[in-house]
Amino acid sequence: MAGYWYEYADFGWEIAYNIRRRKVEEVSSAFCSKDNCKTKLNIRRTFWGRYLYKCPRCFTEIKKDESVSTFRNMLEKIADAELKRTHKNDKNSGY
Ligand SMILES: [Zn+2]
Repeated sequence: MAGYWYEYADFGWEIAYNIRRRKVEEVSSAFCSKDNCKTKLNIRRTFWGRYLYKCPRCFTEIKKDESVSTFRNMLEKIADAELKRTHKNDKNSGY
């Protein structure tokens, strides 16, 4: 299992993947991407049905229409495509 940091939609994410199976295992919750803060964000639903992401460390606030699970779902697809591209010509990866 390996992982990497990925910045997407104003947030930082940790993407864990299984290199042998070329499969994304897990996408983390949203982290603060400001000035290398990397703190896990608090998320709450606003009165207007939007989502407020707030950093407990530096108090950065970001509003989004998408929930964290929506983003994770999108990231899973993006990371999956990235794995396929990266390992397309890798003939020694166990396959
Ligand atoms: Zn922060």
